[in-house]
Amino acid sequence: MTDCLFCKIAEGKIPSQKVYEDDEILAFRDINPQAKTHILVIPKQHIGSCAEINEQNSRLIAKIFEVIPKIAEKEGLSNGFRVISNAGPDACQSVHHIHFHVLGGQQMAEKMA
Ligand code: AMP
Ligand code: ZN
Repeated sequence: MTDCLFCKIAEGKIPSQKVYEDDEILAFRDINPQAKTHILVIPKQHIGSCAEINEQNSRLIAKIFEVIPKIAEKEGLSNGFRVISNAGPDACQSVHHIHFHVLGGQQMAEKMA
């Protein structure tokens, strides 16, 4: 996707504060953190949102969920963390490249919406 912010970050065309990278996945610090620790985990391949997960790409999503505990451990989130993925207007998705927010390092609010 030529005009996608997170594709550009994945390609290194826009800088990011990387916390994890392999050939398929990138994790970097959110530019506007909403918790003491706020990391975004993305596949390098463009997928628009959770609404576009299917049989062809779900292996990549599973791999993201294998990487998340490693990131959480590295970031010292031993007391817990929250994973959120906004999909579509009702969820206020603002970047249309699937991403998983990993939030922690503090007590989170009980309500999610
Ligand atoms: P969402 O609203 O769920 O689509 O989340 C998009 C997230 O991307 C927001 O939390 C933004 O703060 C974050 N964001 C936007 N631009 C950048 C950037 N250049 N580097 C890091 N995070 C970003
Ligand atoms: Zn993209």
